[in-house]
Amino acid sequence: MSKKEFGLNTICTHVGEIGDEQFKGAVSPIYMASSYAFLDVDVKRYPRYFNTPNQEHLAKKVAALERTESAMIFASGMAAISHMFLAFLKSGDHIVVQNTLYGGASNFIREEFPKLKIEFTFTDGYDVKDFEAAIQPNTKLIHIETPSNPLLTITDIKGVSNLARSKGIITSIDNTFATPINQRPADFGIDLIMHSATKYFGGHSDICAGAVAASEEHIKRIWNISKNLGGSLSDFTVWMLERSMKTMGLRVKTQTRAAKKMARWLESHKAIKKVYYPGLKSHPQYELAKSQMRGYGAMLSFELMDGVDSVAFQKALQLIKPSMSLAGIESTMLNPAKTSHALLSQKEREDIGIGDGLIRFSVGIEAVRDLKADIEQAMEKVMNSRQEA
Ligand SMILES: *Cc1c(COP(=O)(O)O)cnc(C)c1O
Repeated sequence: MSKKEFGLNTICTHVGEIGDEQFKGAVSPIYMASSYAFLDVDVKRYPRYFNTPNQEHLAKKVAALERTESAMIFASGMAAISHMFLAFLKSGDHIVVQNTLYGGASNFIREEFPKLKIEFTFTDGYDVKDFEAAIQPNTKLIHIETPSNPLLTITDIKGVSNLARSKGIITSIDNTFATPINQRPADFGIDLIMHSATKYFGGHSDICAGAVAASEEHIKRIWNISKNLGGSLSDFTVWMLERSMKTMGLRVKTQTRAAKKMARWLESHKAIKKVYYPGLKSHPQYELAKSQMRGYGAMLSFELMDGVDSVAFQKALQLIKPSMSLAGIESTMLNPAKTSHALLSQKEREDIGIGDGLIRFSVGIEAVRDLKADIEQAMEKVMNSRQEA
């Protein structure tokens, strides 16, 4: 039976496991060695060569999930992004990146690319025509992110990949928010698929890691530069990540179902002005999302009614924690105006649709009724204190 025919949960649980020949244990042993023999061996192994047994095997699970030939595991999502970009861009090349880009990736480009004389254009929007307009004769890579952070905009994966192919340009995607459980960009022709494995791959808010999935040829190209940059992940954490990924299908499906219920409920709530979730019919790109996602993910954002203090609201929550990160089994919320976008002026924020009342919600695995009750009690507290004031 070929691995491609396995169901998602079978891949999560089994693909890439290391058989314990010696003791017949049920899970992969950890190989912590940073020193391996060089005589009479097929592969010269070393952690920074990304080829220790645990690294090599976990990469197979990622590749199977993303339906690519190969994959690599990195020490963080940013290591995955930066090594991937640097493998395909050199001085004089140009990259097109989506305007709604993860902040760390945006900083990397704006701060480092001028030093390397790599040119870049951030698109004006996220329609295929915006990518087309940004292409230059020296464009080598187009990088997209869908659904985006924090407004959950959807980019046409097939549209962008067809456009790039017609011009001989390589494409990459940040698939962190969707996960391979909900979206498989290789099916739409995307060349390089990266993840912050710190998020849903890890899923328990205790691992920092990254991954790239691609063809053998493209992974070889990334490997050539990665062995010099040195961003490999410790085998202990690789092993932790393998354990986490076994339940990724279960977690993400449960979280996705809960997010859809929460989005519908929030949309009908009187203290909430607007909900951003690609699985809602009110989302302007609902049909596009439906055509390229198997599920709509577990991230959503909502805007509180004017005058409802979003910070006071977050402080009043008892179950849902405030958090800079996302994708854990515990529900968390974040106020973009106070965190990820705090360095922009209020006007700049409003121009890109990030108001003071916007809250990003990473939906966990708790009972939906408990999440609703927590939001309800926090809302009541904030409304009452407003009336008293
Ligand atoms: C967190 C995140 C990253 C960066 O990953 P790290 O593991 O923090 O380096 C990249 N893209 C997205 C969408 C993220 O959420």
